Amino acid sequence: MRIGVLGGTFDPIHNAHLFVAEDAYAQFRLDQVLIVPNAVPPHWKPYSVTPAEHRLRMAQLAVGSCVRMKVDPIEVERGGPSYTVITLRELHERYPGAEILFLTGADAVAEIGTWREPEEVVRLCRLIAVSRPGSDLDALRDRIPERLRPFIETHPAPELGISSTLIRARVRQGLPVHYLTPEAVVAYIQETGLYRA
Ligand code: ATP
Ligand code: MG
Repeated sequence: MRIGVLGGTFDPIHNAHLFVAEDAYAQFRLDQVLIVPNAVPPHWKPYSVTPAEHRLRMAQLAVGSCVRMKVDPIEVERGGPSYTVITLRELHERYPGAEILFLTGADAVAEIGTWREPEEVVRLCRLIAVSRPGSDLDALRDRIPERLRPFIETHPAPELGISSTLIRARVRQGLPVHYLTPEAVVAYIQETGLYRA
């Protein structure tokens, strides 16, 4: 069994997240990709993060009935700061013998030196750095502590210039976000008034 894991804040989930998951599913012949929203991001964010229940719900709406992906509430249910190393240990308990591919955008993996127990993280999974606009995969190596470099695999994929930051800003400005995130998520944002103020 080979499982992909895409962790993040997903505030909100968007089409680039879904594309990264789909592409990895096909290219690495995964059995399923778990979308794992964090409870509390382990690192400070420059804005106040939306309550986990909303972020989880939007992820579920985005995935819908797609069988290739599943939203996993493992971090939200655990609560507290979401450390990847703990999630990976729990997933190995749940799926004994499974190979886990942890998918991260090139921007996120550049911070690996600040993660909790990064040596354990790379022991517990195959860490895949996916290309993202503005984050050069080649330059990435220089930003990663030398001891971790051998464990990072790079996965060049079509780059989509979509971020949750962009979506939040557009909603705040009253600009459309259709086609940046699934329609069900757009409707949820409209109904709840998220990101408006
Ligand atoms: P924010 O702008 O709030 O940081 P985000 O769009 O970066 O949001 P996150 O929830 O922070 O979304 O990211 C979750 C994971 O998805 C991270 O590994 C991130 O690098 C990756 N990711 C997000 N957007 C893209 C993208 N456009 N291309 C490739 N990877 C992406
Ligand atoms: Mg981000």
